[in-house]
Amino acid sequence: MPERLGPPRETPLVGRLAIIGFGLIGSSIARAAAHLRLARTIVAVDRDPGVLARARELGLSDDATADAAAGVTGADLVILCVPVGAYGEVARTIGPALEAGAIVSDVGSVKAAVIAQVQPHLPAGVHFVPAHPVAGTEHSGPDAGFATLFLNRWCILTPPEGADDAAVERVRGFWSALGSDVEIMGAQHHDLVLAITSHVPHLIAYNIVGTAADLETVTQQEVIKFSAGGFRDFTRIAASDPTMWRDIFLHNREAVLEMLGRLNEDIALLARAIRWGEGDKLFDLFTRTRAIRRGIISSGQETPEPDFGRRHGETPS
Ligand code: NAP
Repeated sequence: MPERLGPPRETPLVGRLAIIGFGLIGSSIARAAAHLRLARTIVAVDRDPGVLARARELGLSDDATADAAAGVTGADLVILCVPVGAYGEVARTIGPALEAGAIVSDVGSVKAAVIAQVQPHLPAGVHFVPAHPVAGTEHSGPDAGFATLFLNRWCILTPPEGADDAAVERVRGFWSALGSDVEIMGAQHHDLVLAITSHVPHLIAYNIVGTAADLETVTQQEVIKFSAGGFRDFTRIAASDPTMWRDIFLHNREAVLEMLGRLNEDIALLARAIRWGEGDKLFDLFTRTRAIRRGIISSGQETPEPDFGRRHGETPS
């Protein structure tokens, strides 16, 4: 499995690449695309002047603008990297400026709602290939990005029915060049899979950290002091961007509620097993879950090092 990005390309895959929303994901795409010379020109678009100034300082793009329509003019690939609730507004703004033959893609963590927001605003002759890189961190903004974010991670494409095959292949080629493994699936199925693998785990983390903060019988100081017992691993996820996650839950409502229903039933069964002293039920479940963790490690999606690879006994640099 490669651990670093390959050498720069002799000929770019894309002429003008416009990245709208220059935060963690958008700036990571720009970093990798610049390093690999995937585009002749990279344009950063963001509504935040501070983000644009930072993009210029970091030298991550050839041009940086708050004017999304100007940014996409002449672009052959446009990647939307704004929070899931903002896709419709951005698509409405750029629609009239898109040129025939251009490909519009995105990185949204929810797919059906993004397709519903974007598609109505795209003119005929513009190809839409939605994508979701299953890679990220709990940090936000252009300084949080890094070029290897997508290396050996999955990127899921959810082309709508009738999508142009050549456009899908170009987007697949782009993500493969960034180091990702690409899989194609339907948008509804994507939303169900991600509800259980990402969205509900985030909700559980937000919930447990919130519950601990509200306890009357255990002080916040004690929660922080003894957090190494498991709590602190939830706090990493619960530190994720509030805007992004608010939008994910509001836009993947049905799939999340479906998975939460299942989770509530299973938690009730666990509570019953504890109440009735059914140790074999607990033991069987914990054995099955351990096997899932080992499967994630052997597939290269997690480090096998103990304690999530935390370095112990070393002086932090
Ligand atoms: P981020 O670091 O917060 O960056 C988003 C940027 O978009 C911010 O600079 C934001 O500016 C800007 N923005 C918001 N609305 C805009 C608009 N209407 N026009 C122009 N710019 C706008 O977010 P991120 O973590 O990169 O996430 C971006 C997308 O990637 C989301 O759809 C998310 O679901 C998806 N995603 C995230 C992860 C992850 O782990 N973070 C992983 C996979 C996919 P303001 O600060 O002014 O709002």
